[in-house]
This record gives sequence, structure tokens and C-alpha cells, in this order.
Amino acid sequence: MHFKARYRGRGVAIRVGKIAGIPISLDYSLFVIFVLIAWSVGDILMPAEYPGLAVWAYQAIGFLSAALLIASVLAHELAHSVVAKNNGLKIRRITLYLLGGVSEIEGEPSNPALELKMAAAGPLASVALTAVFALFWQVSVDVGAPPLVQAPLEYTAFVNGVVAVFNLLPAFPMDGGRILRSLVWRRRGDLLSSTKTAAVVGRGFAYVMMVAGALLIIFVDIVTGVWLFMIGWFVSSGGQLELYQTALSESLRGTRAGDMMTTKIDSVTPEMTLEEVSQRVLILKHNGFPVVSMGKFVGCITMDDLRRVKRERWPEVKVEEAMTGREKLLTVGDSDSASRVVELMNRNRVGRIFVVGGDGSTLVGLITRSDVIKVTEAREVRAGLTPSQKISFTVEKGMDFVIEQTVDPGLTWWVEAPQGVTLLTEVEEKTGAGHEVRRFTFQAVEAGRYSLRLLEGPKRAGGPIVRSVAYTIEVG
Ligand SMILES: [Zn+2]
Repeated sequence: MHFKARYRGRGVAIRVGKIAGIPISLDYSLFVIFVLIAWSVGDILMPAEYPGLAVWAYQAIGFLSAALLIASVLAHELAHSVVAKNNGLKIRRITLYLLGGVSEIEGEPSNPALELKMAAAGPLASVALTAVFALFWQVSVDVGAPPLVQAPLEYTAFVNGVVAVFNLLPAFPMDGGRILRSLVWRRRGDLLSSTKTAAVVGRGFAYVMMVAGALLIIFVDIVTGVWLFMIGWFVSSGGQLELYQTALSESLRGTRAGDMMTTKIDSVTPEMTLEEVSQRVLILKHNGFPVVSMGKFVGCITMDDLRRVKRERWPEVKVEEAMTGREKLLTVGDSDSASRVVELMNRNRVGRIFVVGGDGSTLVGLITRSDVIKVTEAREVRAGLTPSQKISFTVEKGMDFVIEQTVDPGLTWWVEAPQGVTLLTEVEEKTGAGHEVRRFTFQAVEAGRYSLRLLEGPKRAGGPIVRSVAYTIEVG
């Protein structure tokens, strides 16, 4: 398999070294699967295949078989990564974990032919390993080597064949699914629609895997069943997320930070008091202001910064004492790509990025998440990719109101804070029905009509927005 970096289940991994210049990491969950394989091979499979051996011999066969399988999975991933690397893509690392291996490849293959080569390399490596180990096994049988040698060779030849066939299932984002996408892509010439097709087919296979996994759990073998079920679940969510990611990068293609930014900026000076800033917050209904001193961009002050200072000290404390300094803020240049802006926002979970010009000390613009959404939403909604929902309701002035959304596995919601509406609390809770919900409590102190938006995306930083819900709130 080779899933994208940003969608991999991220546990704690230890780096063990580099092969062909590619860092290799072992996730702790790998040790779980190692023990499970060693145990199922040594205690269940082999006593049936080769009866009458000593217990230590079965354990040694189990251990050797597990080690050879994991080395084979590594070779499979190296095949993907080396092809990608030779074609100019950056490999962050290869991680081996519970469900197999992951090559973390940065960026997308630029054309269908490269995608095909990259995707096919892994299963081809597994086929080659099957042939090599089958040959060794044949030799070991011919020379009458002990079961301790024969058995692990036989097992490794067999499982590499299984790995090759399994990975060739057209279950995007698994290898076979990527091969399917590359073939459709070559015919249609359109990456986004090909990804959509591959994701739909992939989801079908994912459901089959989950049902088959459940049946295995009930009737045959819990370990294999759970593993298959997890892969099915991972394929269905991974394919969907990768589809959104492709949609997002396609809709941002060619767009620069300068095209998205707002240039009309209300700023404050370092000498102003917090009291004066709080007045401006009320009048202009902004949550924060950039701080500019004699034309130079020096920091940013937000309502959060104000709240850290006791209310009665606001008339005497100056902005420069309470602000967040320029060096701690996220900035981009106006010619930076829009994808970079989105990546920075998502990775750091922030809603605003400052655009600086020239030597980096002049503020030329501001990009909020709404600016990004404006650019991407139209295209995504038109492509039917971001289900977008609109809800309207009325609340009384000064009353708290609550908005909640069910949390999908691995995802979370965050709020695009509108001006004039204060977010009081946000909590995640389990409902009686066992669903996770994220509950936001707001307050609007002034009458008017407000728009706010909830966005859903992966909990782990770096992923795309998968769903957005727009609310129109009438406060009166
Ligand atoms: Zn693979």
C-alpha cells in the first residue's frame, strides 16, 4: 500500500535508519502485528503443516516467518519510493505499522504514466519476492533442509503472493486503485474526475472488505477478520480524504496568496492601550488587529490577548505589552501558492495568515479562512465534492445559542468565527446513542443578521476541509 502522508494513522514511530536515502520508521503497532504473526504461524499454522517438532522450533519458525514478512513489506514500500524518488518526488519516510507499510510521498505524480509506474512497482516487487522465495524453498526441499529452514521460506513465498494480489484490488487508495486511477486519468485527461471514479470503486471494495472481515471474525479467525475490517475502514475513509485533497489542490491550482488576500486592513499601533483596542473591537467587530508601527508590521493583538490581562488594567496596558510578536505569526509572500496558505492554516489550526511584502516587514494583506473558502467552495460544490449545507434560525439578543454536529471518525469540527458573535465554549461529548458530537456555544450581544460556518476536517493537522455547514443567525 502507499497512502499519503497526511492520512496515515499516526502513532509513535521510531526511526531505525535509511535505505537508499529514504528514512525508515517503525511504528509501535508493528510490534503488535509481529507478535500476532509469529504466534499464529508458530502456534497454529506450522504444527498442522509440520507435525512433531519441538515447541522451540515452532516458535523459531514463527519468529523467522514474521521477520521475513515484515522485511518483504519493507521491500514492497521501497519499490514504490525508489520509483517516486527517481522521478523527482520527495519521500518523507517509509513507516511500517499495524496494517502494513506506508510510503509518505510528497506531492502528486504529475502524469498518469508516472502514477502507473509508482503504483505498480510495489506489487511487482512482491511478485518478484514470491518467485525468489519459492525458488529458495524448492532448493531447500531438494537438499532436504530441516523444517526450520523450509517452513519460513515456504510461508514467505506464499504471503508475498497474497500481498501482491491483495494490493492489486482496485480499492483506491491501495495500489490497484491507483493503477485504476492512472488508467482512467490517461483516457480522460482529468485527474479530479478520475480520482472520483477510483474513489467510488474503492469504496465499494472497502465495504466488501468490511463485510468479509466481519464474517471472518464471526466464523473463522478473529485476527485476520479484524485486520481486514480495519483495512476496509481505512480504504473507505482514506479514499474519500484523498479525493477531497485532490479537489482542493485542483481548485487552488494557479491561485496565489495575493489573489485571495484582503488588502483593506484595520490596524492598531503598539502605543495604543488595550482599552482603545477593545473599543475598536466593538465598533469594527473584528476579533483581532495587526499591529503596525511606522509602516512596519510588528505583531497582532486579538481578543484572546486582551482577556489574558485583567479588565481593570486595560486603560494602562499598551498593545506592545500584550500582543503576539511578528516572529510568532504565520506569514506568506503574495506570490506564494494558495495551496501553501491552506496547508499552513490547516497544519497550525489558525484562521488567518498575514501576507507580507518586500523585505518581510510590510503588511500587504490578510487571508482568512473565509477568503480561502470563497475561492475553493464554488468549484468544490459544483463538482459535488464538499457537501455544503445551509441552516437559518433566530435567537434572542444576549441569549446563548448552541450549534452541534456529529463528529465523523478521525475528523473534527472547527468554527469560522463571525464578527459580532462570541464563541463561549466548545466541547466534544458522547450522546446517548453513542455518537460523538462537537458542541459550540455562542452569544450575540447585538441585534443583526450573522453568518457563521462550521468546517469539518481531519483531527490530525494537515488535512483538507471535507464538509462545511453555513448558518444564518437572525439576532433580534
Ligand atoms: Zn503498495
